[in-house]
Amino acid sequence: MTAPERRCTARAAAKINLALRVGRPRQDGFHPLATIYQAIGLYDDVTVRDADQWSVRTHADAGIDLSTVGDDESNIAIKAGKALAAHHGLSRAAAIDIQKAIPVAGGMAGGSADAAATLVALEELWGLDTSVEDLLRIAADLGSDVPFALYGGTALGAGRGELVTPIDAPANLWWLVVPHEIGLPTPSVFHHFDQLELGDEEPVIDEALTAALAAGDIAAIAATVSNELQPAAYDLRPDLAQRHRLLDELGADAVLLSGSGPTQLLLFGDVSAARAAAGELRDQGIDHVLVPAPVAGAHVLEH
Ligand code: ATP
Repeated sequence: MTAPERRCTARAAAKINLALRVGRPRQDGFHPLATIYQAIGLYDDVTVRDADQWSVRTHADAGIDLSTVGDDESNIAIKAGKALAAHHGLSRAAAIDIQKAIPVAGGMAGGSADAAATLVALEELWGLDTSVEDLLRIAADLGSDVPFALYGGTALGAGRGELVTPIDAPANLWWLVVPHEIGLPTPSVFHHFDQLELGDEEPVIDEALTAALAAGDIAAIAATVSNELQPAAYDLRPDLAQRHRLLDELGADAVLLSGSGPTQLLLFGDVSAARAAAGELRDQGIDHVLVPAPVAGAHVLEH
């Protein structure tokens, strides 16, 4: 009898930015950020199995464009697995299977979620005991949004986004997520942002937003969410500015661009109002998904 195959599945959530303030590029080319992240109920699931060599396969529901997601070393999930193995001096490898629901290049850090889920799944499969500090350092080396994908919930992000501090945000929010079939590469939005000379001297988060989140005051949250990349993204993509005007008519508490776009977000405190807006989008043939927030960070689903 052959031994049952050992595998582990971990789940990681998409992120949105409730606030995104951006500075001028640093010496190393990165932009200093001050942000508030929130993990939303839209997930990628990553399954890992022991294997002789590294491999990755990505699957997705219809509507998610996988054309830019490599099945080789360019995939951040393999980079994550290798980084964890190297940290422990292991010469092990894994076959990685990604089930994607987070749109690619949608400004919701789907790749970072896959990296975080891979770290958590391999940690479990291999019975490692990586300290939280080391795991966060490995995550930060993989990408600015990977540490937050480990934390989940709601958190402040500083540095280039990798310095994460969880914050209190008790309100149950509903986000109507409106992806766009044509992606918007993050580097091109930052480049245009620089061309327009929009960078802050020193990006800081408006204290009114952290106070509103702590109080669970949805009207105040809605009045203070903001994204400084939005003007640059809309300048590059007037179709998104036009769609923003349409989304403004749907009764949301707030409408904003997710990260570097092109995904747009409608905030609702009231789920019935959110469902009514989702119905209107459905009638207009506009792709969308309604999800709760905040949700947990990367975690093991089954082993
Ligand atoms: P960010 O704002 O962090 O750049 P994003 O949501 O805009 O995130 P991602 O979906 O994370 O963008 O991916 C951006 C690019 O990263 C993809 O176009 C793809 O070329 C590359 N990539 C590498 N690995 C992955 C992965 N596992 N999932 C998605 N994209 C990946």
